[in-house]
Amino acid sequence: MANYDVIIVGAGMAGLTCATYLNRFGVSSLILEASEAVGGRVRTDKVEGYTLDRGFQILLTAYPEAQRVLDYQALDLKSFRSGAIIRHNGTFMVMSDPFKEPSQALNTLFSPVGSLVDKLKVLQLSNEVLKESTDAFFSDEATDTLSYLRDFGWSEDMITNFFKPFFGGVFLENELATSSNFFRFVFKQFYNGEATIPAQGMQEIPNQLAVKLPKGTVRFETKVEKIVGNTVTLADGQALTAKQVVVATNASQADRLLGRNVNRTFNKTTCTYFAADRSPLKEKMLALNPNRLSTVHNLCVPSDIAPSYAPTGKSLVSVSTQGMEGVDEKKLTVHIVKELTEWFGADVQSWKHLRTYHLPESLLSFPANSAQTELKISENLYECGDYVAYPSLNAAMATGRKVAEMIAGV
Ligand SMILES: Cc1cc2nc3c(=O)[nH]c(=O)nc-3n(C[C@H](O)[C@H](O)[C@H](O)COP(=O)(O)OP(=O)(O)OC[C@H]3O[C@@H](n4cnc5c(N)ncnc54)[C@H](O)[C@@H]3O)c2cc1C
Repeated sequence: MANYDVIIVGAGMAGLTCATYLNRFGVSSLILEASEAVGGRVRTDKVEGYTLDRGFQILLTAYPEAQRVLDYQALDLKSFRSGAIIRHNGTFMVMSDPFKEPSQALNTLFSPVGSLVDKLKVLQLSNEVLKESTDAFFSDEATDTLSYLRDFGWSEDMITNFFKPFFGGVFLENELATSSNFFRFVFKQFYNGEATIPAQGMQEIPNQLAVKLPKGTVRFETKVEKIVGNTVTLADGQALTAKQVVVATNASQADRLLGRNVNRTFNKTTCTYFAADRSPLKEKMLALNPNRLSTVHNLCVPSDIAPSYAPTGKSLVSVSTQGMEGVDEKKLTVHIVKELTEWFGADVQSWKHLRTYHLPESLLSFPANSAQTELKISENLYECGDYVAYPSLNAAMATGRKVAEMIAGV
């Protein structure tokens, strides 16, 4: 007997967004979540008074789907200054907003990062992407991002010193093999809004959706083992039935539950956190290392952006490293401290290692012309999640909303 209109498997951003819209449409849902909390890949831990997001992650306020359902004011969003600090030839260069303040960027005309032509190209692309809708981006012809940047006419210097470290950090891969569609979509979001973190950590985002759902909507520590028709079987053997079932898990679990044998590749990252007595950065910006053979690829100080990320008088330093997931945590930490001592001096030696997060399945790789997955699998089975569309919070939320609309018939 169907107790619920819809069972949703997974309380990540896709599952929560789906439940949010179903609730608005008057359709009841039960979310079954394997872990002990909502958020999926958007989780935050409190460690020794520090707020540690599980991997460096930001909310771009321009995301159309986020604007539709999130209450930004309640999230108390704190913004990064747009642009980046670039480690260049043993020193630091501030690249003022290359997306929104071209006049500022032009002031740094004689800086080693970006020529006048490069900056005019940024303006050209900004004008182009502004007119394009999210769905249109992903129906355009695509190539890999690196080829796209070269074809667009940017200099190798600009590509090496800015685009590779900046978008490599977004895509979580250093070759810029990711689809140019996704690059254009992300470029528009940076141009059109702010890069932010909630004052109390990224998990405040899924928490905000979850608290607005009817009490008892999410059942925790409830792993789904099997789905047959509209019946789901839990790890303890219990079977639950609903009129519709929505798979809103990560890609690997969805493949398992749906009996698919797909060879997927993922982009990975490792995030290492340190407690420091003072911030090593002078700007509220992300620091990028164009030398991708190093251990430190991107660095930021979340507590400079949102002071509540660290206890009063302390700073939290977040270091992202790509492709080092197999490296022993202690060795990695030693490497990072050594490299950052070259960057910031002996102060780094006093930093305290707080925690390391290895995130081997951070994002599904998204090469050019990746196949788009249908959201409706059969009469009463649907799937949503970032892997179904493109690797972003916006995609997780968009696919969650679309599935809810299909089920509710709106
Ligand atoms: C390090 C990192 C950095 C990122 N940076 C950004 C960024 O800056 N901006 C951005 O837009 N995106 C970023 N992302 C991507 C973003 O986090 C994801 O796109 C989004 O969170 C995916 O949500 P989802 O609901 O599709 O999947 P998930 O978050 O993976 O949620 C799936 C849920 O299903 C549950 N589940 C799985 N199997 C089962 C089962 N069998 N039974 C019950 N429950 C199950 C899981 O426990 C999980 O809660 C980043 C991701 C990572 C890891």
